[in-house]
Amino acid sequence: MKNIILLAPPASGKGTQASLLKKDFDLVHISTGDLLRSAASRNDDLGIKLKEIMSSGTLVSDDIVISLLKEKLVENRNSNGFIFDGFPRTVNQAIELDKLLNELEMNIDYVFLMEADYDILLKRITGRRSCPKCGKIYNIYTDLKPVREDICDVCFEHLVSRSDDNPDSFKIRYQEYLAKTYPLIDYYEEHGKLIRINALDSIEKVYDKILSVMK
Ligand code: AMP
Repeated sequence: MKNIILLAPPASGKGTQASLLKKDFDLVHISTGDLLRSAASRNDDLGIKLKEIMSSGTLVSDDIVISLLKEKLVENRNSNGFIFDGFPRTVNQAIELDKLLNELEMNIDYVFLMEADYDILLKRITGRRSCPKCGKIYNIYTDLKPVREDICDVCFEHLVSRSDDNPDSFKIRYQEYLAKTYPLIDYYEEHGKLIRINALDSIEKVYDKILSVMK
């Protein structure tokens, strides 16, 4: 079993690397952003509250995120392992994750810190698109560009942008990252789990680096 955390600012390519790892190692990909977007799409009180918080770019409260995560962990406890994408984002979440994994007799193997500059991430965020049908992620400014502008290569649907992928929300998301997520670097360094990766390299190079560490 392998449990991996991808720790990084928004738009650094966590989702892309998570998909590659999921495919090659048959791991369960847990993106708390995806879990929350799915909860936000429901028109109940929680959904309405989540939509508002997420489009502003601030973090959702730990108790909501942890309960969604716990459900997913328990449901897949017999899998080959997990890729945590976008979780933990606070030191409290990291402590809670350690407790949950401990209860399930698991632990974290690797924490890949994907580092990238603010200006490049800002550009990437405005270029990010996804297919509303199959969920495939594209970026019009990187090697993830679709063949035809704004059309999914797989299902030919019109691509859409996330409501929080705009410069104002990005600024707040990045500030949240520095204030609340950045302290996790010390946390995982002290636990001897942190591996630094240059997220500005090509997708293949970033993935090769991850594989070389895991071998
Ligand atoms: P992401 O898809 O990871 O960029 O997350 C999108 C948004 O979901 C974030 O800006 C937060 O509002 C919320 N979110 C995702 N993961 C977490 C988390 N672990 N803790 C708190 N909020 C989260």
